[in-house]
Amino acid sequence: MNQIERKVKLAVNGGISFGAKLNAKQLAVIVEYMGDHDELELTTFQQLYIEVSEQKVEYVKEKFKEVGLSCYPVGNFVKSLRTCNFCKGEEQEGMPVAIELNERIAGKPVPFTLRPAYTGCPVGCGEPLVNDIGVMKVKDGYNLHIGGKAKGKDAQIGTLLLEQLTPERLYEVVEKIIHLYAEQGKKRESFVKFINRFGFENLKDEVAG
Ligand code: SF4
Repeated sequence: MNQIERKVKLAVNGGISFGAKLNAKQLAVIVEYMGDHDELELTTFQQLYIEVSEQKVEYVKEKFKEVGLSCYPVGNFVKSLRTCNFCKGEEQEGMPVAIELNERIAGKPVPFTLRPAYTGCPVGCGEPLVNDIGVMKVKDGYNLHIGGKAKGKDAQIGTLLLEQLTPERLYEVVEKIIHLYAEQGKKRESFVKFINRFGFENLKDEVAG
């Protein structure tokens, strides 16, 4: 009896670097694991969606990793950090901090897809203020905004939660926020709705202490 092959959707990108780019080798490897009639979906969040056989998913992830591709789960998870292009330089715009933050949070399960964004200066090309969690490097510190929403008639900009954080403090606070949302958010409750229900000041008290 023929078994129906189950597919798993993966979100793939080239990791955090100077812009959301893929090189020829990465593209070639992606194509290698696509069937003739498969399609690649481009998302607005600097990710490509690809469906691969459930049986081969770990092998494919390993092959993608070998050429510097990053894979993330699709669904109710923290998405990989959307970033700006770091046009003024790696250190000056905090790329290592963005990479570390992404390592710590991307792929964590949450009640509803959570979009974090990072930008290396106040010009804000990474659009941090219209994402659930937005980090903006300002001079030597990191400003943290929460509750931005790009979609819908009720689109809104995020509110400044804390400013001029050190990298360590930034990681700590963002991890606490995600933990709180994962623990206390209702199933399929968006992060913005969670903040409104939990209360911005209550959330600040919980995570800033
Ligand atoms: S946010 Fe600033 S550092 Fe990042 S790409 Fe835009 S101008 Fe360049």
